[in-house]
Amino acid sequence: MSVHLHDYIPLCTPVIGEEERLIVSETMKTDWITTVGPNNNAFEQEFSAALCPGSFSVAVNSGTAALHLAFRLFDVKPNDEILCSSFTFIASISSAVYMGAIPTFIDSEADSWNMDPELLAAELEKRKRANRLPKLVVLTHVYGQSADLTKIVKICENYRVPLIEDAAEALGTTNNGKQVGFSGTVGVFSFNGNKMLTTGGGGMLCTRDKTLAERAQYLAFQAKVPGLDYIHEELGYNFKLSNVLAAIGRVQLTKLTEIAKVKADIYQRYQVAFSKTPGLSMMPAPKNFKSTSSNWLSVLRISSEHFSVSRHELIHRMHEAGVQLRATWKPMHTQPIFQGKCYTIGGEVCEAIFEETLCLPSSLSLDADTQQRVIDSLLKILHGKEVSKKTHLPVYHFPYHE
Ligand SMILES: *Cc1c(COP(=O)(O)O)cnc(C)c1O
Repeated sequence: MSVHLHDYIPLCTPVIGEEERLIVSETMKTDWITTVGPNNNAFEQEFSAALCPGSFSVAVNSGTAALHLAFRLFDVKPNDEILCSSFTFIASISSAVYMGAIPTFIDSEADSWNMDPELLAAELEKRKRANRLPKLVVLTHVYGQSADLTKIVKICENYRVPLIEDAAEALGTTNNGKQVGFSGTVGVFSFNGNKMLTTGGGGMLCTRDKTLAERAQYLAFQAKVPGLDYIHEELGYNFKLSNVLAAIGRVQLTKLTEIAKVKADIYQRYQVAFSKTPGLSMMPAPKNFKSTSSNWLSVLRISSEHFSVSRHELIHRMHEAGVQLRATWKPMHTQPIFQGKCYTIGGEVCEAIFEETLCLPSSLSLDADTQQRVIDSLLKILHGKEVSKKTHLPVYHFPYHE
């Protein structure tokens, strides 16, 4: 049953087709309805084969679980230090903090909005001299935009610090022609309801290192020693993806090219519509390296020099006009939970981006006419004109976590 949103335009809702319904129904006729089974294995193999042949993938029940598992692979312990992008979603670092790690947040570069390689290099050099190299670097490809991967991989290799790529939003994103998420030591993807692909909820841990992948499988299955007895030499997790949900993932994976094309078209239409207005610009493509974006969410930047309307007022007024906008990720170094309790390198660049940006509706089902309504309402509000208010607004009720 679909959720009725009247003619409200939500930020980003999933599209599940007949093939997904069929494969779920077929799977439910078998015994394989738990966290082992043929779809689970096939999804892992097909994911690696499609995105980075020769790599290994481990299907788990969320992107957050995949990150947690990644931190465990590197044996993160209390007081370990981790360098992390500041402009990201909290799940990039939350499980490491559970494990007692102390994050240092690194600012974005203006070119890609992602971790600034120069700041990273300078910080690692400083720490090397102080004999205080971090345990890990966590790099997010934010909103599907690639970070400067070539530089960052090289820097991490120079200092022999493992790199975790948080590619949760970046399925379909390439850097130098290659899918991101496979260039670091470990990469992580999310199949949450509003991500590029969905399994209802799920994630993938990917690596080119077979030993790491096998250890991840073992830890994700309660670290049970193979054999007939329940023998545990260490503690693991119950993190595996359900075989039923893996079935959805297999079908969704076959649609990735198509999905990325729709996302690119959505971005392109916004780009054309807003480029005529001084002070408005879409998230720019990096000039300093070769990449393509998944365009997971289209992000608009509204220059505060040109427009005085606040971010919150815009979100509120667009909601009244029947359109859901969302703020971008509030930088981690400004979060109440971290402020004053961890280190920050720079911070002004991503703070300025955060202050001036909003996520625009980017659902796969967003047709050009509906998108035009978003564009028209936004331009009217920005230019101080009245926009007719919807009379039957839904109570915030969307088929995904907000
Ligand atoms: C969505 C997301 C995650 C977490 O993935 P879940 O599947 O929702 O647990 C982690 N990092 C980033 C950057 C994300 O956008």
